[in-house]
Amino acid sequence: MKQRALITGITGQDGSYLAELLLSKGYEVYGMVRQMAIENPEQRLVRLRDVLDRIRLYVASLENLASIYDMVESIRPHECYHLAAHGCISYSFDDEFSTLNTNINGTHYLLSAIRKFAPGCRFYFAGSSEMFGHPDESPQRETTRFHPQSVYGISKVAGYHLTRNYCAANRIHACTGILFNHESPRRGQEAITRKITSGIAAILAGKMDRLRLGSLKTKRDWGHAREYVEAMWLMLQRPVADDYVIASGEAHSVQQFAKLAFEHAGLDWRKHVEVDTNGYRPSEAAPLLGDCTKAREMLGWTPRTRFADLVAEMVDADCVAVRVQSPSAKAAAASSLGLAGR
Ligand code: NDP
Repeated sequence: MKQRALITGITGQDGSYLAELLLSKGYEVYGMVRQMAIENPEQRLVRLRDVLDRIRLYVASLENLASIYDMVESIRPHECYHLAAHGCISYSFDDEFSTLNTNINGTHYLLSAIRKFAPGCRFYFAGSSEMFGHPDESPQRETTRFHPQSVYGISKVAGYHLTRNYCAANRIHACTGILFNHESPRRGQEAITRKITSGIAAILAGKMDRLRLGSLKTKRDWGHAREYVEAMWLMLQRPVADDYVIASGEAHSVQQFAKLAFEHAGLDWRKHVEVDTNGYRPSEAAPLLGDCTKAREMLGWTPRTRFADLVAEMVDADCVAVRVQSPSAKAAAASSLGLAGR
């Protein structure tokens, strides 16, 4: 019998890579989506276009317990990857309330549904380095104290504790992956990395000239999303549920990302980037840098993509999307045609 996997947040960056990974491993893949995804598939299901005919979508809402119960009861998954979340680290009170409601209650509804209808199901919760907020130590590991600085971080800490509690009290195989930032050409447009790479494509296409960015000094630990979803799967294959930090182990500043990205496109970042002080976060987190030793040792997981290659892949993909070629892509095309140097 095929293993059934349920992915919430399947339309997102990680959900789409995870769906591809699980299909390649022979799983029957189910994805929870919102009604609006079904109503607007061209936009909302774009990351799933290559696998749409091989997955099953189920409409449910993280704000509605009954819909979550119905979904889990009818699918009865063997593995559940809970990736859906209100992800924006925002500052408006309205957003704060909905972030807390969706992220905490949604996680609770799902855990409760699993306990009731699929108690043997293994559960993965998408934690975040934002749980560390202002960390006491660097690099951060599984034992580092949480000190979240945003409602998003707070909601993830609550989800982590709910997951631990269901694991301990109900003997559900439930774990949290504390993932540091991970990017790809499928990253949401609101992420700073994507803002830079899509901005470069727009500059090359002549649609804009300057890119406004918040603090250039902010440092993050960036890896490739395709590799990070492998770690999620590995966590659920362990005989005993446990939590793991997943990170590249390297911190780079936004400025370093921008410089590399502009250089890859043959542009001087200083001519195109201006600092927007409104873009500063009210409570900026200290450098977040992860130590994934435990994942290396216990899961055999290791980050593979180099930072510069990640940046280049994202720039190239955004250029292709607006039908412009970066100088490096032009050079590669020329050399494959034997035109280099002519
Ligand atoms: P995306 O923003 O690409 O995807 C988020 C997914 O959540 C989408 O499928 C979205 O659906 C869904 N979603 C958002 N709000 C709701 C809601 N109210 N009800 C139902 N579904 C909802 O995120 P990523 O793939 O990058 O991240 C996946 C998870 O990992 C998230 O939980 C995120 O917080 C966490 N994470 C991500 C990191 C990163 O660097 N990418 C780092 C650490 C943690 P829709 O398409 O309908 O909007």
